Amino acid sequence: MKDKARFLCSLCGKEYPIETREFRCNCGGAFKLNWIPQPIPISSLIHRNTSIWRYREALPIVEDKNIVSMGEGFTPLIPFPYKDFKRISLKLDYLCPTGSFKDRGVSVLISKLKELGISQCLGDSSGNAGASIAAYTVRAGIKCRIFCPATTSEGKLIQMRAYGAQVTKIPGSRADAAMAVQEEAKRCYDEDAEKCYYAPQTWNPYFLEGVKTLGFEICEQLGWKVPDTIICPTGYGTTYMGLYQGFKELLEQGIVNKLPRLIGIQAEVISPIFQAFSRKAMEVDEVPQEKTMAEGIACARPTRGREILEVARLTGGFFEIVSEKEILEGWKELNRQGIYVEPTSAVVVKALGRLALKSLLDHRENIVLILTSSGLKATEKLSGYVNA
Ligand SMILES: *Cc1c(COP(=O)(O)O)cnc(C)c1O
Ligand SMILES: [Zn+2]
Repeated sequence: MKDKARFLCSLCGKEYPIETREFRCNCGGAFKLNWIPQPIPISSLIHRNTSIWRYREALPIVEDKNIVSMGEGFTPLIPFPYKDFKRISLKLDYLCPTGSFKDRGVSVLISKLKELGISQCLGDSSGNAGASIAAYTVRAGIKCRIFCPATTSEGKLIQMRAYGAQVTKIPGSRADAAMAVQEEAKRCYDEDAEKCYYAPQTWNPYFLEGVKTLGFEICEQLGWKVPDTIICPTGYGTTYMGLYQGFKELLEQGIVNKLPRLIGIQAEVISPIFQAFSRKAMEVDEVPQEKTMAEGIACARPTRGREILEVARLTGGFFEIVSEKEILEGWKELNRQGIYVEPTSAVVVKALGRLALKSLLDHRENIVLILTSSGLKATEKLSGYVNA
């Protein structure tokens, strides 16, 4: 079977073969995948396995034998009684195989690497994507090296090493780690371009193709109804864009008749997308790298800035910020409901209050909050916040 997929630059429209080792267009634009999925056969899903691969027709891997899967996805959607909100659900996406939603995107990304015959994968990560890539590459028999900011939670670094990945800590910001891995990727391509692949989840369209199943799944769990609003943590914006992609495909296939309103939440101290959207800018400008409890979304310079702003405008979505104090309070609110996530995930809780106060949220709306990662990954950082 032949792979008809191509990469297209989202800025200048230039086409690249999917085998390219460029992670973005020469013009600096991010790639999107030019590929037409088959319709999802919703009436036969009941007979299928409970992973993202139940939506097989929508996932751009040519041959089944290349699928690298650990049953990621199909996480619980449970009610969240919160103040006078009537219909909030929590999507417990931290219950994926490596403890974060990143497994959705990584399962598709690493399956593609296997299909391309790659034997060495390089990545950069604030922690969760690295842990996920380490796990899926080891299953696929692909050697793995991950570059992380030196401040990454110890739990995540240990997890990566446990899967056998070679981990390099880079002093400085998330962007410094990205720069270091890109240097290393160049060296690796000089040695063996055939076998080596730099797979940044923040740029690679195959990652987004996996994350879009989050949209399919929420919709399926609600009886193929679209929630009014979905609220997710937003750093690079892959969750935001993946949700959009998922619902857009359902809309195009006539399975649903509207898109949800997507609200992305950033940490106040690092909020480039929120700021750009608020001043109606077309581009997202880099902001200073500050420290935040929400390490999973501490992104000072998003890669798909222009696209994210466009999607938000097109769909009635927008962005909100929460303070460090609100992140901690939100985390404790979740704890009182038996939910233990890492602080990054907790940004969504107090955003509810802020949005309601500005009349941007109605108490009767059907709202889904995405919880992206497990608290067990950040235990050493969280130990200071619980009473002895
Ligand atoms: C990666 C990540 C996110 C989402 O970040 P985006 O870059 O916006 O997709 C959210 N929470 C956690 C814990 C993460 O690791
Ligand atoms: Zn381009």
